[in-house]
Amino acid sequence: MKTLLALAVGFALGSPLGHAPRAETPAAPAAVKPTALVGEVLFPPKPVLGSDGLQHLVYELQLSNVTAERVQLKRIGIFGDDDKEPLAVLDGAEIAQRFSPAGRRGNESAELGGYQYGIGFLHVALPVGRTVPQRLRHEVEAWFDQFKADATMQFGAIAVASSAPPVLGPPLRGDGYIAGDGCCDSTRHVRALLPLNGGFRLAQRFAIDWEKLGADGRLVQGDRKQVGNYHIYGEPILAVADGTIVDTRNDLPDQVPGALPDGLPISEADGNFAVLDIGGGAFVLYAHMKPGSVRVRTGDKVKRGNVIGEVGNTGNSSEPHLHLHVMDGPSPLLADGLPYVFDAFTVKAIDRAGTADFDRAAETGSPVSLTPLVPPLAIRNALPLDLSVVEWGQ
Ligand SMILES: [Zn+2]
Repeated sequence: MKTLLALAVGFALGSPLGHAPRAETPAAPAAVKPTALVGEVLFPPKPVLGSDGLQHLVYELQLSNVTAERVQLKRIGIFGDDDKEPLAVLDGAEIAQRFSPAGRRGNESAELGGYQYGIGFLHVALPVGRTVPQRLRHEVEAWFDQFKADATMQFGAIAVASSAPPVLGPPLRGDGYIAGDGCCDSTRHVRALLPLNGGFRLAQRFAIDWEKLGADGRLVQGDRKQVGNYHIYGEPILAVADGTIVDTRNDLPDQVPGALPDGLPISEADGNFAVLDIGGGAFVLYAHMKPGSVRVRTGDKVKRGNVIGEVGNTGNSSEPHLHLHVMDGPSPLLADGLPYVFDAFTVKAIDRAGTADFDRAAETGSPVSLTPLVPPLAIRNALPLDLSVVEWGQ
């Protein structure tokens, strides 16, 4: 009881202090101060080189308001190592786009009620020439109703993972593939934080929904309710690396395109799928495959380039596509999403009008709005970023 009382007194008397930066003298114990916000990064950030030539860090910062009244987040600064200048700063408007009370996507706000927590979905594209920092730390400025004052606090110090992402071969053949809901500011995969088995998981952080454009820039020709009218339907799906199949399913029917199915059990979300163990603790999920097309079984060894199935529209899918992501365990959801790179591809265009434009094209059958890259950009060992249009290398 004494400890609790002391904290309460500290809040009442003091300004709402956070942790001060660590003392310079290593042997000195840190000064003990109550803190009005508690912050920590959920998973160590893992950098990835994007198809824009920049290194990207995509991760989640949890902030908990331990006061009884509302907190208004005004600024989040992200710092690398001992830098004085921040790598990125989010103002209140940007926080309101990226911060979600309870981590619920679509629930974004820069405010936390009393005793509430939220998750900031953060993305730092490192400036050209800046090496990947070994550590990140965060400085948060907020208004506290309880104290009628602003305070600035530092927390969320985290080591950046130094491991290199797995290098993959092409998952599909040919030209015209568009990277739907890709890294790093789209939301449907990047913010698919799920409370599972007593903890948060974000297996889809770097997932891509691959679709295919026809020569006229459309995803589908003719009746949009027919799976076979989508350019990608039935395309062969390739093993992206040598490995071992650790799980599959092949018996679910295609959904009628145009809407997500109602009431689907979580066990059927991936539809017909394969999980490929590519070694080094990395597993590749291929989801929504065509009924009966999955031609691998658990325990099969496959080689890079082997056909393992065909693109379909099974499971939680509103139109035929290949959902691909890499994760740190064999479960497609109960895992942490890992970044990955493809060893050879060419970006020919980008839909710079964003997810809303892509959704419009999917919902109406009209062409995607593309900005061609002239000349096309041949890329090695990078992650195709959101809405890039890709031709696969060999
Ligand atoms: Zn997906």
